[in-house]
Amino acid sequence: MENRKGSIGYINKIIPFSNVDGEGNRMAIFLQGCNYNCLYCHNPETINRCVSCGKCVPECPVSAITMVDGQVEYDIDKCVNCDKCVAACDKNSSPKISKLTVAEILEKVEKVKLFISGITVSGGECSLQSDFLVELFTEVKKLGLTTFMDTNASTAICDNKELLAVTDKTMIDLKAFSSEENKMLTGIDNEMVIRNIKELGAMDKIYEIRTVVVPEVLDNKRTVDEGSKLIASINTEIQYKLIKYRPMGVRKELLNTSSPTTEYMKELEAIVNGNGIKNTLIV
Ligand code: SF4
Ligand code: SF4
Repeated sequence: MENRKGSIGYINKIIPFSNVDGEGNRMAIFLQGCNYNCLYCHNPETINRCVSCGKCVPECPVSAITMVDGQVEYDIDKCVNCDKCVAACDKNSSPKISKLTVAEILEKVEKVKLFISGITVSGGECSLQSDFLVELFTEVKKLGLTTFMDTNASTAICDNKELLAVTDKTMIDLKAFSSEENKMLTGIDNEMVIRNIKELGAMDKIYEIRTVVVPEVLDNKRTVDEGSKLIASINTEIQYKLIKYRPMGVRKELLNTSSPTTEYMKELEAIVNGNGIKNTLIV
């Protein structure tokens, strides 16, 4: 049989235990690279792959990043995670990216498998590395663990039969119900997002839908109202998470606004509950 453990993923970071990335205790794996450029992105260093320009190298206080044959090399053992390199990068990237094979990630999963119920692969946008996901999920399921994707749902996941066969659930961002607003916020319209929600929902492949609430900038009431009606028409048990925008780590030159009030979040929660969703969460 073909060796399916050699595929390489571009990994931003791995958190061995997380209880906020899906059902139960999970390993969360964040991939590098995103096709969105959200105004409120909290991790802009995950958007692009490093182009080895070298600008960040002199900023490292412990020489954990070096230039070797024109390419940036990162030594995870030396790194003290000060993030001076990330602050120096003007290309929405990071030199702290690991290229790991499926076999290398499986080694990490094996070490903690007794303590987790599954893995969640996030981003960046994880569906951009779908071949890698198919191979990783195939192997992880052999260990008796569940497989979740945390995705912006802007690619045709609903048509990817190979990936769906090994994906237990998705967690989907509904950033804006209006396609124009989604484009203003992310750079891309939301037609595929809505299609994915409808089709993945019909396949019982959605664990959670999330909306970040941004006062003054977005039509939050429309997104939450139309979004919850859509979710309720599919399955009222799907969790709808309303996330308060927090101006931490964001690029303030792109979006400078405050967090929503608790009263406003409660107002939105009432709309969601009124539309029949049984499981609403404010964070
Ligand atoms: S985060 Fe690590 S690699 Fe980056 S500057 Fe700090 S020590 Fe160096
Ligand atoms: S992380 Fe950014 S600054 Fe550093 S080498 Fe890569 S592209 Fe250049």
